[in-house]
Amino acid sequence: MLVHARSKGESIALVPTMGALHTGHLALVRLAKRRADRVVVSIFVNPAQFAPNEDFGSYPRTWEADLAALSQLEVDLVWAPSVATMYPEGFATRIVPGGPALAGLEDAFRPHFFGGVCTVVAKMLLQIQPDIATFGEKDYQQLKVVAAMAHDLDIPAKIVGVPTVREKDGLALSSRNAYLSAGERAVAPTLYRVLKECAAHLKGGRPVSQTLALGRAAVERAGFVVDYLEARHAGTLAPIARLTDGPVRLLVAARLGRTRLIDNIAV
Ligand code: AMP
Repeated sequence: MLVHARSKGESIALVPTMGALHTGHLALVRLAKRRADRVVVSIFVNPAQFAPNEDFGSYPRTWEADLAALSQLEVDLVWAPSVATMYPEGFATRIVPGGPALAGLEDAFRPHFFGGVCTVVAKMLLQIQPDIATFGEKDYQQLKVVAAMAHDLDIPAKIVGVPTVREKDGLALSSRNAYLSAGERAVAPTLYRVLKECAAHLKGGRPVSQTLALGRAAVERAGFVVDYLEARHAGTLAPIARLTDGPVRLLVAARLGRTRLIDNIAV
């Protein structure tokens, strides 16, 4: 299908996912459809980006529902390789990303993560050879890491970011939201609410360190264990001391019971 499309001069978009598709993923597919003639969605729960203590085994797998949603959107190809196809016996190469992958955000808590993401995304980009690939801003550091990798390795695909899709109450859609108990689900929108409050305070002139300290305390009061709440340069992810060092992005990761949630917004 891809060879045929290419020979006709059609453009191809890749939407990499780990399945358990929700409306956020479907927004990536919709944008891909607007930007390219053919859309390939990959579904692969990538063992290389999970640490041994993480949720690879229990990660939600909803194959039938995923296929139904993708066929409604009329995607051209679903690429769902097995682990043995992606990492056959003897596989021995791993990408070691730097720059935004060492910003001290997700990487500080999941040191294996971006190496695993880059390795699988590079393989997918080389397998499919898309003109564009869509990634969600929900995983903001990941979007920056993948864009840097594609640029640094001369992979010709354009990496396109897609705004975060949220529930009505502000909670960013995530496959991991399925882990939340009813009580946790009620508390989970706090993350987005606090991000918005912090952004308003920063714009109102409150100093960055004070804003973040108050924000962290508010997230903790709601019952989370905070991994980080940070204000970073939206392009480089470097720490910023004041609003004028921006454009600024606020990024948070926090754990609610056994579920780890991340979110971010522009200031
Ligand atoms: P995942 O299946 O969680 O690895 O996510 C696959 C892609 O969907 C990634 O590029 C994510 O950033 C993106 N994504 C996940 N949740 C959302 C969301 N709520 N809004 C927009 N994109 C999302």
